[in-house]
Amino acid sequence: MVTAVTMGDCSYCSKPAVYYRRHSGERTCKKHFIASIDKRVRGEVRKYLRRESRVGLAISGGKDSLSLAHTMGKLRSNFPKMKLVGLVVDEGIEGYRVPSIEKARKTLGMLNIEHRVFSFQEGFSTTVDEMVESSRGRNQACTFCGVLRRRALNMMAKDCGVEIVLTGHNADDVAQTVLLNIIQGNLKHLTQEIDFPGLLRREKPLKNLLEREITLYALLSGIDYYDMPCPYTRYSLRNEVRNFLVALEVGHSGATYSITRTGEKLKRGEKVKMMRCRTCGHPTTRTICKACEIIEEFKKRE
Ligand code: SF4
Repeated sequence: MVTAVTMGDCSYCSKPAVYYRRHSGERTCKKHFIASIDKRVRGEVRKYLRRESRVGLAISGGKDSLSLAHTMGKLRSNFPKMKLVGLVVDEGIEGYRVPSIEKARKTLGMLNIEHRVFSFQEGFSTTVDEMVESSRGRNQACTFCGVLRRRALNMMAKDCGVEIVLTGHNADDVAQTVLLNIIQGNLKHLTQEIDFPGLLRREKPLKNLLEREITLYALLSGIDYYDMPCPYTRYSLRNEVRNFLVALEVGHSGATYSITRTGEKLKRGEKVKMMRCRTCGHPTTRTICKACEIIEEFKKRE
């Protein structure tokens, strides 16, 4: 949960700060906090959007996807010819998806973004609830749901002629996925090619923002999002990883970003070159090896 608390003045004006960004030391008031998030998203999407891009937004009705829609809506002034289409998937989860789709429809309507809804029932002749029921595996729900939702998004994107799909995954989501893949030994998911003929381009403009920053952005921007968890969340391994990461971040600020960066390095296939330490000649990845650095540090203290 995020609460807006007073914590001194904003780093950019004299208004009270509502957010303190620990890793940068920046304090921001409501206006500058919202502007900083919009700016970071703008900087990210500029890497892959063109002036006339046709962009699909994967929308669930939760805080992340509706914050993405909100900030992308503002970006239309920078990309006047850009076409935005909301892609909404109804997986068939009773008591959960209908109200979240309602929130999605309402917000997308206010933002003047057209949208399409793909229903598992119509497209795949089944629903997540039915698959769980027939397999008696609530802990399998997220696998059925995630795999088929990706396929549904691909089908919708093709149908609407969009060239890229943006999802609302934040830094916490990305770090969870990296850890999940490590826990499950899915090296191929961490290293698979992302550029392949016929593969739809997907990007995550919020991947460098923490979940708490998105929550605060949604609250301060007055976004009406659906905030009840999916009934299957508690049976998923991701949920355990999420709780672990939240606790880790409290004690070790920056851990989430370190994990996301590790995931990106693995995807790029980055290899670190070995060399010889300039001081002792031992093989190392640094100019001066860590052992020499520590010894030198303690010599200075003597
Ligand atoms: Fe689907 Fe699992 Fe997310 Fe529920 S928690 S919407 S079942 S991926």
